[in-house]
Amino acid sequence: MRPYDEALAQLLNDVGSVATASNATESVSLLDAVSRVLAEDICSPNNVPPKDNSAMDGYALRLNEANEQGQWQVVATRLAGDASALTVGPGEAVRIMTGAEVPDGADTVIMQEEIIRDGDSISLASEQGVSAHKVAENIRPVGNDIKEGRVIVAKGTRIDASHLGLIASVGINTVSVYRRPVVAVISTGDELIEPGQPLPAGSIYNSNRYFLLPMLEKLGCEIIDYGTLKDDQALFERVFKEASEKADFVITTGGVSVGDADYVKPVLDALGNIDFWKVAIKPGKPFACGRLSKDDTQKAGYLLGLPGNPVSAIVTFMLLARPAIQQFSGQAAEPLAFLPGRVTQDVRKRPGRMDFQRAHYVMGEDGRLKVTPFNSQSSGVLSSIAESNCFMVLDREQGSLEAGAKVKILPFREWL
Ligand code: AMP
Ligand code: MG
Repeated sequence: MRPYDEALAQLLNDVGSVATASNATESVSLLDAVSRVLAEDICSPNNVPPKDNSAMDGYALRLNEANEQGQWQVVATRLAGDASALTVGPGEAVRIMTGAEVPDGADTVIMQEEIIRDGDSISLASEQGVSAHKVAENIRPVGNDIKEGRVIVAKGTRIDASHLGLIASVGINTVSVYRRPVVAVISTGDELIEPGQPLPAGSIYNSNRYFLLPMLEKLGCEIIDYGTLKDDQALFERVFKEASEKADFVITTGGVSVGDADYVKPVLDALGNIDFWKVAIKPGKPFACGRLSKDDTQKAGYLLGLPGNPVSAIVTFMLLARPAIQQFSGQAAEPLAFLPGRVTQDVRKRPGRMDFQRAHYVMGEDGRLKVTPFNSQSSGVLSSIAESNCFMVLDREQGSLEAGAKVKILPFREWL
């Protein structure tokens, strides 16, 4: 059995990346860029904010230059969006609203709650007078958020809503992204029926297709959905070949073990250079991968053959297929973000495989994370994924654990 880290490293080495290919980028408008991978560093063409502006509703003035009466005369009002020429002299103040540009000459904004206004004269409410304030208070300086020229979102970032907001804030509305990976999805099995149909004796509903498609969508993939294939060697051969000519990845589920109806292996042997791995993870052992062509010079899809069992399929997808597709998409490497936690109960485990137990973590009263494994770790129980928020990850050589032991937590809900 292959250790997980080794299997993943080899897979990543095999699949490569669109980032190194020519013609792999396209220009898209900002709202179409979500879930895509940036093919360029986004540098800010300007400062944000572009000018000093007020953080409060109040008065802009020269703090240490009141008139002889210790007051300032209100000479104008400035609303957000108003950029007309305006200068504040000694003993003068401008009524200013949040977000409005600080007029020339003013060095401080006093919030209105700290001002006493009498007609057009204002004075400071505090008994300590000027010493209760600081020059420059309540002014958001130019470039405080973003300095002109700074990289605000780096090449290789998968763009989310926060990146869109940030890119918009510097005035950019078009970005260069890598093309989407094309992924063919094929379910296999005579026993599979689509939900919505009556269930004949001996059949089960196809569930794998229904989590794979949205997870691929989230990875920004263009999907070719081949539905379900009956276990028929000639059919597999024809469809796998067609899919490999159209797609960057061909993802199959089922048929990778050695049951009588598992035709995937002979077909793959005939079509390409496919490795069959027993990865030392639980759940999810059998996994097939490799190029669906015998000729290295020929462009052909890369097969990711997931186990049929839904829990094994989703776990191998998350741990092997997902990072492979991310890397191929041009996304910068993203190591698994483990959190430290303590298990709430005794856990049985035999050394030999890396265990990804479905579990639920919360913060305990002591501020530390505590994690409780789902009551069934059977690889047939898909609700173990739906009702959990993380894997409790137990290393390969780890044996049984007692309640309170330190464990690694791997949150997974954002992948779903
Ligand atoms: P296989 O590897 O084809 O022998 O499949 C292993 C187990 O997973 C069998 O019990 C299959 O019925 C089940 N299975 C395979 N594909 C799916 C699917 N798409 N949805 C739900 N169960 C499946
Ligand atoms: Mg099968």
